[in-house]
Amino acid sequence: MNLILFGAPGAGKGTQSAKLVEELGYKHISTGDLFRYAMKNETALGVEAKKYVDAGKLVPDSIVIGMVDEAFGALAGASFILDGFPRTAPQAEALDNLLESHSLDIGKVIFLEVPKELLLGRLTGRRVCKNCGATYHVEAKPPVKDGVCDVCSSDQVVQRKDDMPEVIEERLEVYENSTAPVKSFYLAQGKLIELDGTGEADDVFARIKGVLS
Ligand code: AMP
Repeated sequence: MNLILFGAPGAGKGTQSAKLVEELGYKHISTGDLFRYAMKNETALGVEAKKYVDAGKLVPDSIVIGMVDEAFGALAGASFILDGFPRTAPQAEALDNLLESHSLDIGKVIFLEVPKELLLGRLTGRRVCKNCGATYHVEAKPPVKDGVCDVCSSDQVVQRKDDMPEVIEERLEVYENSTAPVKSFYLAQGKLIELDGTGEADDVFARIKGVLS
């Protein structure tokens, strides 16, 4: 069953997606990861996206929608999780059209509910490996050796530019204004499932698995 993982920045969408990939074989479509990959490789898309991503703003809908269209084209029958898309009402509507044109559907939209105070702590403490994308947290999950990735041994475990406090405020505001309203779109479609996103990652994952059957 194809899924959308939905929630504020820092709600745990990336962490839970990684578990779904590892344990259940899902294909992960993260628009944020796709932008970071393009930015790292300095492609035309990356150069364009950087202006928005580093400032905590949304990349224009047409660019994101085209990217998801391409990702759907490369699925080859795999079940997928959408993480970070859709983030605006026009993206949600465009997604319905994309699903239809690729003969796909979404079974459930899982909303991870996390209070704002917790989101701030998660985002300011988050560190990511620039090489492989593994994520850490300075207190909850530091790498074994400071600054070095446990997964790929790269010494590039850093703070994302958009996890700096000023940018976080902007991202949370963008979420409230543009993304949170998308919830009602899926509520109306009868697909929205709200889950408690607080606590240990494994506990949240158990809650997700509990609603998948
Ligand atoms: P994320 O890793 O999902 O928090 O995404 C990081 C950044 O990528 C966001 O703050 C936006 O700048 C951009 N981005 C990711 N997904 C989208 C989307 N669906 N629409 C517009 N911008 C996006």
